[in-house]
Amino acid sequence: MMYIDPHIHVTSRTTDDYEAMQKAGIVAVIEPAFWLGQPRTKVGSFQDYFSSLVGWERFRAKQFGIVHYCTIGLNSKEANNEALAEEVMELLPLYVGKEGVVAIGEIGYDDQTAAEDRFYRLQLELAKEVDLPVMIHTPHRDKKKGTVRSMDVSEEHGLDPKMVIVDHNNEETVKEVLDRGYWAAFTIYPHTKMGSERMVEIVRKYGPERIIVDSAADWGISDPLAVPKTAALMKEKGIPEAHIEMTCYGNALTAYGQSGQMEEKDWLEKEPIDQTKKHGGNTVLRGGQKPRVDNDSSNIIEN
Ligand SMILES: [Zn+2]
Repeated sequence: MMYIDPHIHVTSRTTDDYEAMQKAGIVAVIEPAFWLGQPRTKVGSFQDYFSSLVGWERFRAKQFGIVHYCTIGLNSKEANNEALAEEVMELLPLYVGKEGVVAIGEIGYDDQTAAEDRFYRLQLELAKEVDLPVMIHTPHRDKKKGTVRSMDVSEEHGLDPKMVIVDHNNEETVKEVLDRGYWAAFTIYPHTKMGSERMVEIVRKYGPERIIVDSAADWGISDPLAVPKTAALMKEKGIPEAHIEMTCYGNALTAYGQSGQMEEKDWLEKEPIDQTKKHGGNTVLRGGQKPRVDNDSSNIIEN
């Protein structure tokens, strides 16, 4: 089985994680632009971050046999620094057309402030202009209200729900998101909130159409193997194979493939791993380490 993790902040994960992900069958990841745990104070920090998402991290993932895509956007938390947010808005058009950028995101609401609303709307307009899908981050507080508002505002701006992926859903939000024609993504957090067990029951209840499973793993307590682990639990609990394939692979490909930047042949026909390669003169190897060099790209683990 092949998996896609369509929401993971791999920049903050280790090479051990990459190796484990590839072994578990993850062939592609999408890394949404987000905040870094500490607010940025200068526009240059955003610029270098966006550059690393389309540059170094894309290269690094490839060295471990995983195809890396990203989304570009101003996150809702940092939208609250309005002076800086305005400068970031001027940067975004320089990055949204780069290779491997599959959506504008993750954008939306955090505390649901007026500033967040303003920059969310501006970025919806940008998405329309460049014809890219949108990845919506729904708030962790007041989730129901924030989720409904995200969709209302998106419709006010005339976006087609099929171009919008609403993430961080739960049992409270899923029905309306699906009924209104959106993609409903779920972040599987270990120990809390949305766990694998609850995900299995959601797929059982709502079926696999437009449902997407992701890990949203980052620098916090999270699990970069959440997608393959949830898939394994679905199998154990009797969810049909075709439904597992859709929710843990196919739907993400269809949704983000609308960008024209992501297709199956990207990993089916990719070059074999060659860790002797360099990016801007730098490699993933440290002194004396033996590079992994595969003869072919058939590194998908059967399970
Ligand atoms: Zn995220």
